[in-house]
Amino acid sequence: MVLSTNLGYPRIGPNRELKRALERYWSGRGSLKELDTTSRDLRRARWQLQKDAGLDHVPSNDFSLYDHVLDAAAMVGAVPSRFNWAGDKVDLDTYFTMARGADRMAAMEMTKWFDTNYHYIVPEFEKGQKFHLASTKPVDEFLEAKGHDIHTRPVLLGPVSFLLLGKSQSGATEPLGLLEKLLPVYEEVLGRLAEAGADWVQMDEPCLVLDLSDDRRAAFATAYESLRRSAPSLKLLVATYFGDLRDNMETAMRLPVNALHLDLVRGPGQLEDALARLPEDMALSMGVVDGRNVWITDLERAASALTRAVDSLGPDRVMAGPSCSLLHVPVDLDSEPDLDADLRSWLAFARQKVSEIVLLTRAAESGMDSVQDELKAHREVLERREQSTRINNPEVRKRLHAVTDDMAQRRSPFGERISAQLSHLNLPSLPTTTIGSFPQTPEVRKARAQFNSGKLSREDYEKFLEDEIAGVIRFQEDLGLDVLVHGEPERTDMVEYFGDQLEGFAVTANGWVQSYGSRCVRPPVIYGDVSRPHAMTTRWSKYAQSLTDKPVKGMLTGPITILQWSFVRDDQPRPETANQIALAIRDEVLDLEAAGIRVIQIDEPALREGLPLRREDWKEYLDWSVRAFRLASSGVRDETQIHTHMCYAEFNDIIEAIAALDADVISVEASRSQMELLKSFADFHYPNHIGPGVYDIHSPRVPDKDEVTQLLDYALQVIPADQVWVNPDCGLKTRRWEEVKPSLSNMAKAAVEMREKVPAK
Ligand code: GLN
Ligand code: ZN
Repeated sequence: MVLSTNLGYPRIGPNRELKRALERYWSGRGSLKELDTTSRDLRRARWQLQKDAGLDHVPSNDFSLYDHVLDAAAMVGAVPSRFNWAGDKVDLDTYFTMARGADRMAAMEMTKWFDTNYHYIVPEFEKGQKFHLASTKPVDEFLEAKGHDIHTRPVLLGPVSFLLLGKSQSGATEPLGLLEKLLPVYEEVLGRLAEAGADWVQMDEPCLVLDLSDDRRAAFATAYESLRRSAPSLKLLVATYFGDLRDNMETAMRLPVNALHLDLVRGPGQLEDALARLPEDMALSMGVVDGRNVWITDLERAASALTRAVDSLGPDRVMAGPSCSLLHVPVDLDSEPDLDADLRSWLAFARQKVSEIVLLTRAAESGMDSVQDELKAHREVLERREQSTRINNPEVRKRLHAVTDDMAQRRSPFGERISAQLSHLNLPSLPTTTIGSFPQTPEVRKARAQFNSGKLSREDYEKFLEDEIAGVIRFQEDLGLDVLVHGEPERTDMVEYFGDQLEGFAVTANGWVQSYGSRCVRPPVIYGDVSRPHAMTTRWSKYAQSLTDKPVKGMLTGPITILQWSFVRDDQPRPETANQIALAIRDEVLDLEAAGIRVIQIDEPALREGLPLRREDWKEYLDWSVRAFRLASSGVRDETQIHTHMCYAEFNDIIEAIAALDADVISVEASRSQMELLKSFADFHYPNHIGPGVYDIHSPRVPDKDEVTQLLDYALQVIPADQVWVNPDCGLKTRRWEEVKPSLSNMAKAAVEMREKVPAK
């Protein structure tokens, strides 16, 4: 029998119940009991819904109060010693402190989960690291479901991926060296699950889709041979996702497990290879429903892949499922009553995807004829989507085809541009600026909420924003900053703001996806050809510029960041969508220039995270993403200065692409690494201007003048003074005025003093 399965379901609840319960608990407003009740209710509802939909394998332990990697660390007792943990069971307060920190206990590091926007807590391993069973969550949740008469398939983060996702402190054994010590804990968990009545267990090993050394590959074999021996009665499924296996296929096929899950959405090409090589005692779990995007599945195509596998392996060796956990899509399309009918019919969120899996399983099991009506209805929707005038905008396509290489090229080389800019802008050496946003105070948020709910008229709201902007301009003038910003009070989110105004984008009411802990984001949906019906930012930039003689920097989000932080249409290649966005941003850039804005910043904080998981795919990505940026930025005159901003510190391996963006000035995060990253710019002889962040905005701490001076000093040791700008690490949106005022004032003073010591431009 073909089995219908799921790898994981969103945790946050249809109305972000988990977020609310967690935040109430953390703030002391809600009790532990309340949090416990909410999470039990959520777990039960998720299980019941999936069972009722007809899934054969409903996952458990995919729920988490913060993060599943942190859960795994808790399970094996990997609690760093700074948390003063007694060392028996990991209690909830220790768990949350690991994630969020507490006085003098720094939180554990957080980073992006593969190429998603979900962040996981990075396991830390210390000298003399030991492991023991310190949380029985997987068993408890299995039993909890059993108590509701629901037989689940527990999900564990596999031991090899767990180690590879972690970091060892300096001097400690490197993560993979800990495998032998770790395995007994996993064996104990599997033993207990078997005892509790589990039959299948899902072991997530997404690291199998990465570039792996032979050592790493060998670790998978070691791990699963030992797990196999210790739990002979359990059926183990190893799940891979976010890419195809390529050169790791052999490793995966040789694992002594009962089933292997493949992501056939990201890696459809691996199916034939897998069918040809799958060992006889292994089943194939086929990820045919996209767990990373919101579109309905092409059911006929998915069903024929399943049928192909059934023909080749027999029905008992085939499972149907999503490509990866459904964690990365919103919960339920039924919570979007305001989306128009067309668009709705094209979309599937987690709940709808579960139904698709069940239907596909039926098609694979009983033949396509058995679900003929459903398939037909689906096909009609897909055809309507394909032909919809809402998606296809001939003007946009025509324009895209007419794009020439010249359009992605500034008129003159940087050396000539910069002299034009310096005289146009009249800047001192070591010019000062900020990254764009100023504190989004409770008043700003309140005014926006009142405007959105109709309590504040548009006129009054705009007046409010103008006053905000005027205040921010005055503040920057008082400090003597050189290139000013308007402060972005009109924006909630740097992508949503543009998604809201561009054609081809839809914003959802409730399409929340977990980003980290209780934090959720609501990515816009790019469904059609992108165009810009009207100018999006000039009104505010122009107003700000009217208040001062200093240049005010226009603020835009770049095409790659908009792409990366949205749900992207799946009916055309990503580069094409990127170029459409780029053209819309290009028009905005030109409108800003025409409105008298002399400096324009195009933020690309997501450029690096968009890097493909495999190094061999990097070049292609960097080529098209750099070109999209250049298409957006290159229409301006020489004297108009283009800035870009990125907030990460790992530039080494993409420095060439960064330089190829050809932005006149780039501002980057640098203070936390003590200017470490500047080395890659120096070694590369980065030709354009750089503003290394000299004020760490991620912390409430106010840096004093000497600290800023020292960071600037470091910067000037590696980068020629006439290339250096002075600015904070990132936008100031999340900071409070009490912090921002003294910090920026110290930054400005340090820059002025330093100017005396460096030769004038
Ligand atoms: N201009 C944006 C801001 O200042 C940049 C944000 C970012 O880099 N993430 O808020
Ligand atoms: Zn930033």
